[in-house]
Parts: sequence; structure tokens; C-alpha cells
Amino acid sequence: MSDTVVTSSNFIRHIVSEDLQNGRVNHVLTRFPPEPNGYLHIGHAKSICLNFELADEFGGKTNLRFDDTNPVKEDTEYVESIQEDVRWLGFQWDDLFYASDFFGKMYDCAELLIRKGLAFVCELTAEETRQYRGSLTEGGKESPYRSRSIEENLDLFARMRAGEFPDGSKVLRAKIDMSSPNMNLRDPVIYRISHTEHHNTGNAWCIYPMYDFAHPLCDAFEGISHSICTLEFEDHRPLYDWVVEACEMPHVPRQYEFARLNMTETVMSKRKLKLLVDEAIVDGWDDPRMPTISGLRRRGFTPDAIRQFCREIGVARAFSTVDAKMLDHFIREDLKLKAPRTMGVLHPLKVVITNYPQGQVEWLDAEINPENPDMGIRQIPFSREIYIEQDDFMEVPPPKYHRLFPGNEVRLKHAYFIKCEEIIKDADGNVIELRATYDPATKSGSGFTERKVKGTIHWVEASHAAPAEFRLYEPLVREAASSSSEAAPSTSDIGEKAFAKAINNGVREGDASFLKELNPSSLLVLNGFVEADVKHAEIQTKYQFFRHGYFNVDSKYTTEERLVLNLIVELKSSFKV
Ligand code: ATP
Ligand code: MG
Repeated sequence: MSDTVVTSSNFIRHIVSEDLQNGRVNHVLTRFPPEPNGYLHIGHAKSICLNFELADEFGGKTNLRFDDTNPVKEDTEYVESIQEDVRWLGFQWDDLFYASDFFGKMYDCAELLIRKGLAFVCELTAEETRQYRGSLTEGGKESPYRSRSIEENLDLFARMRAGEFPDGSKVLRAKIDMSSPNMNLRDPVIYRISHTEHHNTGNAWCIYPMYDFAHPLCDAFEGISHSICTLEFEDHRPLYDWVVEACEMPHVPRQYEFARLNMTETVMSKRKLKLLVDEAIVDGWDDPRMPTISGLRRRGFTPDAIRQFCREIGVARAFSTVDAKMLDHFIREDLKLKAPRTMGVLHPLKVVITNYPQGQVEWLDAEINPENPDMGIRQIPFSREIYIEQDDFMEVPPPKYHRLFPGNEVRLKHAYFIKCEEIIKDADGNVIELRATYDPATKSGSGFTERKVKGTIHWVEASHAAPAEFRLYEPLVREAASSSSEAAPSTSDIGEKAFAKAINNGVREGDASFLKELNPSSLLVLNGFVEADVKHAEIQTKYQFFRHGYFNVDSKYTTEERLVLNLIVELKSSFKV
């Protein structure tokens, strides 16, 4: 990872550098702590790159830690996908931990707090607890259970652990300050009862620590030097520090916050992404429209492009929304010199070249990538029958239309000039075929200069062409829904239906409302043709299709008989010639 290029500002880098200089720490150990309750998305990639690249820059290390303290929502499928995604991005963690590895030590810490008079077993209902907590403008009220004796607390906590009490009947709370202006310090709950099997610890536990208790302790147990999280946790930092100190941790980690990644036209929440999967609106977490790492991978994005993007957006404390087009920019940059160029026709129209000898096939030279001559030359077949794009012909052309129309001549990329001579239509008047003539003197590369044409179009030779399914994508939801939880005024039919169905399935209105903004044209499937050598391409091979954009061979639907190509990103230049 020594090729890390640092281009953008990152205030955490300065903090780490100072901490090393003034001796607060003598080595850097960061961690990436996902909860295994969904697949990772591009926002997580920002956090992964930040943690791994920062540690690497200072000769440090990074742990992967599964923050698995909420067994109801967690699953080994997610544990596996997270590891795959982090590795695919090109990072190797030092140690792998589960928060659940430390349940025993956390329990001991909780007991220590009780013995120090800093925690108590509370029996207020959830509703009462809420009322007692007060509000931002009003101090809280102490729980009547707060003054229990240490012995009674130790006994009750042990019996909570032994499974004597039902879910929700008791909690363990830290005894801090009910009048604190920081709500997080008003005797926060640190353990709850949940008789739920855990993906890692099975039925060993029926009490589970809360995030605010588990997270600082894990950081301390692992010896994390810089615990980097998103800004929502800024108000939790005093509690983080309190837990580390009250539990007498020999190692003192510190928390630093940065602004999470928000992107235009992008749903950036595991909960919402999971809903799209559960409601079968997408074909899984790796649907190419999903901003998950696995979706981006299947769409055709590369680790390099994602990492460059994460570096470029930088790390700051100010909220901002990044334009999704920036990610597109980095994949274009990455593939420009790497992806072979080829031709594909998405809306085929057959052209018969009447003066080309029947049965003859000639092989024309074409550079595999004109911007990268090292990739060499390929041969493409040419014969009497070819396919062109329906769009590249107009019977009655508007002004400045330089492609094919009756009597007009265009260049076929890598081949000859052809001239449109005749239009064949079906009974309904649709153009179904063109007749054209070619001029052998105009062969590409022959130095022919006597006539010029204004248009160059792409094509595929018919007898060698391979059928292909092109999948074109647009954002899954329209802008208003991706950037805020408010429903925008206009809704789509498919969105209304998806929303109604989700509500019917018991999803809360607030969680489902973004479905109203589903984009009805987020997926467009077209059946066209590609050059023959694309037919047997391995899955995940990326191509630049001349005038169309970058495509990736789909890993889910491609078989021996079926070739499926996902549009990664269009070319920046306009399609029109
Ligand atoms: P979501 O809100 O999408 O459910 P999360 O924060 O609950 O995500 P975690 O698994 O808890 O997901 O996150 C693991 C790490 O990734 C955390 O350190 C979190 O701060 C970071 N992270 C999550 N989303 C983003 C984001 N959009 N930008 C930057 N970092 C993020
Ligand atoms: Mg979280």
C-alpha cells in the first residue's frame, strides 16, 4: 500500500502526527468496526480507507472488529460479506475481533462499576425511563432504583445474566448525572436483557452490552490509539471517556469524529438498503444499482476507483454532500487505459451492403486501446451484413444530422465509408433494414483523402456477432428521497405501490417513505449484439464500447448461453456525432 497518493485534506492526519510527536501514543492502531447487520456501502468505504490508509501512512495497523452486540439483527452472511468487501478493496486487517469475544471482560467491567457504586439495576419501564430522562431544556429525574445497595445490585445483575428475568424487565444503568446538559450522561443504560441466540456466542448470554458501553471497552482492550467515528457520536464522547476511566482501563483510546459521506442520488443507510432487498425491489445486496461495495463491484467499479474517490473527497468535520458524478469520474480514469475498446449495438438495425461480395469475410485491424498502444491490435470481421444502431439512421434527418440517411455517406469505425441507398419497411411502416453500398477505396488506414464524411458510426458484423443483454442503470430513487427522509411532492406509481406493500408487510411509515420516490426507469434491459470476442469474456471483464460507455460482464446472470453486460458509466462525451 506504499503507493498511497494523498491529495486531499484530512484533519485526522494532523492529530495522529501530533500525538506521535508529543508522545501521547507511540504506535498507531485504528479499527474498522461494522455492525454485521447488512452489507457495506460506499459510506463505509470512506471509513475503511480512512482507517487503513491512515494507519499505513504512520507505520501502524488496523483491526477489523464486528460490533455484534445486537443479536436480533446480526447474521453470519453479513460477517462474511464484510470481510470479502474489505479484502476486495485491497486492505488486510491485523487482528480480527468480535465485540462478543469480550462479553466476559465487559461483564467484569460492569460488575466493577457496580462495586464502585457507579452502576445500578433499574426497573423503570421504557416509557418511564424516557420520562425520567427529561429533555434538552429540562433536567432529568433520578430513578427510584438508583439508591439500591451494592449487594442488591450485584445479586440482581448476576440473576439478569442467569436468565431469571424476562426481556425488558430490568436494565443495568451507569450512575452518572441526571442533571447533565448532555443527555447521554443521564444514567445511560449499559446492559439489557435479550433472550436471543447470538451468531457468535449462541445461547451463552441473555444480557447484552449497549453500544456506548461496549465500544470504548473494545477500543481499550484492543489497544486502539485513534477511534475514528462519524459526527453523530460527538455527543457520546464524554460517555466514551467516562467508561474508559471508570472501568480503570490501563490503555486509554481516544475518539475522533468526522463527517459521514453523503452522496447525491444515493441511498446511504443500511436500514433502507435492507428494505430494498427485503421487498425484492432489487435483486439482492449486490444489485448493480445498489451503492453497496458488492453492488458497485458487480456494476464494474474497481477498488482503485473507489479508493481514489475516498482520498479525493477528503476528511472533514463539516457536513457536505458529494456529487455521485465524482465516483463516475474516477472509474473512467481507472478504466481509460485498462479496458479494451470494442463495439456493441444496443438497438440493432440490419444493413446489407449490396456491392460487397456474397460469402466474403475480411478481417480488419483495430487497435485494442488507441490511448494505450501496448495493448496491441485485434482483428474484427467485416462482411456484407452488419448491424448498426437504430439511432444512427434517420429517414428524414434534422439539420446538422451527419449520420446515415438516404443518399448520405458515413464512416464505419475501423472499416469503410458506406452510403445509404434504400430503406426496407415492414407492413406498419417501421424501418427494418437498410441497403447500402461501400467504397473499397475508403478502407480505414489506407490514407484515403479524396472525400470527407462528417459522421463515424459503430457497427457489428452480423454473422459473427454475439447476442448480448445490455443493462442500463439510473439512480434507484429520485433526488429528494435519497438526501432526506422527507417524502417529496411527486411520487411514482411504482413507488406508491412499493410503499403500500412495505406498509402492508409491517414496515414503519418513516422507514418506507423513501420508496415513494423510486425511479421507475432505474433499470433498462436491451437486447443487442457485440463483437464476437466479447462472447466468451470472463465475468467481471470491463470494456469500453465505442460511443456508449464502460460495461462490465455481469457475474450473476452471465452463462455459456447468455451474455449480460452492466453499464458502469457512460462516456463523458456526448453520444451524438
Ligand atoms: P448505516 O447508518 O448505513 O446503517 P452504520 O453507521 O450503522 O451505517 P456501522 O456498521 O455501524 O454502520 O458502521 C461501521 C463504520 O462505518 C462506523 O465507524 C461508521 O461511522 C462508518 N460509516 C457508516 N456510514 C458511513 C458514511 N456514510 N460515511 C462514513 N463513514 C460511515
Ligand atoms: Mg451503526
